[in-house]
Formats: sequence, C-alpha cells, structure tokens
Amino acid sequence: MVSRIISVEAFDLVVFGGTGDLAHRKLFPALFQRDSDGQFTEPTRIISVARREMSEEKFRESVAVSLRAFVGKDVTASPAFKRFLERIQHVSVDVTGEKGWRELAEKLAGGEERVRAFYLATSPELFGPIAEQLAKHHLVTPKARIIVEKPIGHDGASAAKINDAIGAVFKEPQIFRIDHYLGKETVQNLMALRFANALFEPVWNSAHIDHVQITVAETIGVEKRAEYYDASGALRDMVQNHMLQLLCLVAMEPPSAFAADALRDEKLKVLKALVPITDANASSLTVRGQYRAGAVDGEAVPGYLEELGKKASNTETFVAIKAGVANWRFAGVPFYLRTGKRLPQRVSDIEVAFRPVPHAIFDGGTNTIPANRLVIRLQPDEGIKLWLMIKEPGPGGMRLQHVPLDMSFAEAFTGHVPEAYERLVMDVIRGNQSLFMRRDEVEAAWRWIDPILEAWSRAGEAPRPYIAGTWGPAASIALVERDGRTWNEDLA
Ligand code: NAP
Repeated sequence: MVSRIISVEAFDLVVFGGTGDLAHRKLFPALFQRDSDGQFTEPTRIISVARREMSEEKFRESVAVSLRAFVGKDVTASPAFKRFLERIQHVSVDVTGEKGWRELAEKLAGGEERVRAFYLATSPELFGPIAEQLAKHHLVTPKARIIVEKPIGHDGASAAKINDAIGAVFKEPQIFRIDHYLGKETVQNLMALRFANALFEPVWNSAHIDHVQITVAETIGVEKRAEYYDASGALRDMVQNHMLQLLCLVAMEPPSAFAADALRDEKLKVLKALVPITDANASSLTVRGQYRAGAVDGEAVPGYLEELGKKASNTETFVAIKAGVANWRFAGVPFYLRTGKRLPQRVSDIEVAFRPVPHAIFDGGTNTIPANRLVIRLQPDEGIKLWLMIKEPGPGGMRLQHVPLDMSFAEAFTGHVPEAYERLVMDVIRGNQSLFMRRDEVEAAWRWIDPILEAWSRAGEAPRPYIAGTWGPAASIALVERDGRTWNEDLA
C-alpha cells in the first residue's frame, strides 16, 4: 500500500504563535511533509505571527532547526527543504494591541481570492482578541477559516465565551476546532472498521460487548507546562476533549454519510446520552490521582509537587472514570476511561471487550477461553488487533490459543504514516470539517465534565497519591475489579 496525494488549492496560512512550541514541534514539520509530498499548489504562503521581532532570515533558520529536530537530520537533503523555507515569512504583531497589523495586512494583500487560514497556536485567552482584530483590520475574506486549538475554555461558561467571540466574526463552517486525536490514522480506521465492514455492526451493542476501555497514558510529567497544567488537570486536559471524542467514535450510531454534520450529529447524541456524574455518584465512578517521586523507564523522577515547586496542589495528574452511555445500544455497558502522567508506558488505545462464549465445549470450561477483544492502538505503534481463539497447530489434542489478528499499519503501509496535523491542516484548506468539533459538541462535553469538577470541588478530597511509574492509584484498579473486570493486561 502506498499513499495517494491529492493536491490542495493555493492558500495563505497565518500561524499566530509562530514562535511557539506547537508551531515548531508539530505544525511546521507537518506542513513540510505535505509540501515535500507535492501536495501544495503555488503560490502557497505561510506567515508566522508573534510578538518577537525577528528577521525573515532568522525566523527561517529557526524553522530549519525545528525541521531537523522533528522531521529528521537528513531533511536538508530533501529537494523540498529550500522551497518550504521560502514560503515562510514572519511578522511581529502584538495581538492585544495595534502594533504590526498593518504589516500583516500588507503581507496578505493580493491573496484575497485564495483560501486564507488563521491558525491560532496561542493561549485561548487570545482567541477572542485575535478574531476581533482580524475583523477590524478587514482580513476576514470570504474564503477565510480559523483553526483553534484545545483547550477551548476551562469550563462550559468560558468555552461559550470563547465560542461567542470567535462566532461574532466567523460563521460555524469557517471554524475548525482541532482535536488532533481525530486526525490519527487509527482513529479514522476505527470508522472504516465499523462502517465499511458488515461484520461488526450486528455485534456492536450491549448484547455482545461486555465493556470498553480507553487508556491514554503518558510517561512524561508536567515539566515546563507545570503552571498551565496545575490550573487544568487530567480531566480538562485529556478527558473533556480527546477521550470523549474517542468514546463518541466507538459509541455513535452509523451516520447517514461520511460528511461533517452527519458525523457530528451522531457524536453529539452520544455526548448527550452520557450518564451524568454528580455529587451522588462521583466518588464511586471516578478516581483522581497525583504522582509522587518514583521511576519511569528505569530513571528516577520527581513527584508532581516538586516539579510544580509548591507544597500542595489539589490538581489531578491521573483520572479513571466509569462512564455510561444511556441509550438503546449501550445501556449497561461500562466505558472505563483512564489517563495519567508518569505512567509506566506511553500508550493510547481503545479496547472493545466482547462477551465470553455462552457455553464451553472444550476442556476447561468457559473460564479458560478468553473473550474476543478488539484493540485499537493509537500510539505509539498504530494498528488494530482482533484477539481470537484458535487451535494450537500440530498434534497434542484440541489445545486452544489466544492470538491477535494483527493489522499493524507500519507493516501494511510502506510510505510515511502521516501525523495527525498533516491530515487536519489539509482538511482545513479543503474546507472539510468532518474531523473537527462543532460548537455544540464542545459545549455538550463540558456539560458532562462540569458537574464532575463541581462534585470533586465540593467533596474537597485530595487526589490519591501514586508512585511515578505505576498505573495510578490502587483505587483505579478497584474501580474495574469491583465489576469483575481488569484493565487491559497487555499494558500492565
Ligand atoms: P507557547 O510555546 O507558549 O507559544 C505561544 C505563542 O504565542 C508564542 O509564539 C508567543 O510568541 C505567542 N504570543 C503570546 N502572546 C502573544 C501576543 N500578545 N501577540 C502575539 N503573539 C503572542 O505555547 P504552545 O505550547 O505552542 O501552545 C499554544 C496553544 O496550543 C496553547 O493554547 C496550548 O494549550 C495549545 N496546545 C499546545 C500543544 C503543544 O504540543 N505544545 C498541544 C495541544 C494544544 P511571542 O512570545 O513571541 O509573542
């Protein structure tokens, strides 16, 4: 299998926060990959915006350093390297004031007929002011689009405020709310698997699915982002966006078409069907944790409070939740979610655990026959495994073996597996919103999250400690084991 490149029309991409971490670690490398695959049409331009004064030459040098670091050292040998750097310009603008907007308008002049995309790789407090300034300086053309990064707010009210500010300038079809998990190949493959195969749909319900687990585990701590993280925590940082989006893709009904609104309508229905978690059940359905000093990958690491440089903090770096989807298809099927920092392994996966066989005809009874499982691995090694029972080959009687039907993309796909941002930015240029969140989705997700945050705050309990390098507090294991189940043992 090799990739097929469909070129996009010429565009101007303005990256607000062009000197920042996201732009250099993710965006410029992703754009470079698309350019080197020949996807861009001339004359495509990329304009960085940030307060820092930098000559065009210096800025291009800084992008070259990032490309070497995040694409590969041999990137300079690529014929696209020079061409890509020449597309890039930099303007110093303080988006909260008047400085630099005229220069930006001058740079964009002449491109009014082209797709004009504004990527806001800045903190969310600047989203409203940027939208306002763009309108004030007449930079919003008919083909303009705006791309916003998570976090969209820290609760429902602040999310609505940000959405109002952007919505005052851009119409909903021009707004692209990125959740980069949706750009991952495996996540899109989950939709292909569910809706392009007749095999799964008849068993995709509570009669056949025992439970679903979603794990997003990181080995890193909070490092340089400690201050930001302390105001956020795992629930806001991971569950409100990425994990609920994954849950939606597992639980949603088949949309009538692979089209943005059809997909998003179905995801919204799932978000609305989530069983509320409130003061009455938060302590039995959720577990919060915070890491203490320990060791990850054989290396000693400090605890959260040491990294943060504070004596105390009530912020969770780990959360486990037993969620439920109250609809005809999934009533009674637990969706166990867990995410955390300083866990033993960097891994994100979704496991759909099917019910065991109803009756055993082989020696040993049903207990010796593990149930089928579908494991969708998002990172690090993207792929899908369907765990089945087969007969162990050769003589020796009817001995059974549990084996995965392995669809690892690295082996099936000979080209470069595109990073989520590559796909998503090209979708923005094409105007395809299928893999982006609509306003009502973001707000419905907050409507489920807000009561959990409120219940935790009212309970006033400190997060449970866990040693860095373990799978979180013991209470997380108990959350699942109470129901007679276990977390995916392949990860343990
Ligand atoms: P960052 O490294 O702090 O970058 C922030 C950028 O905003 C810098 O380029 C900064 O440049 C610019 N900026 C700040 N104030 C400005 C102003 N008044 N006018 C113009 N430019 C201004 O942050 P980041 O890590 O790239 O994150 C950006 C956003 O993406 C955040 O909301 C973050 O939560 C989100 N995000 C980041 C990642 C990631 O991997 N980094 C992943 C997902 C989401 P100057 O200082 O030169 O002005």
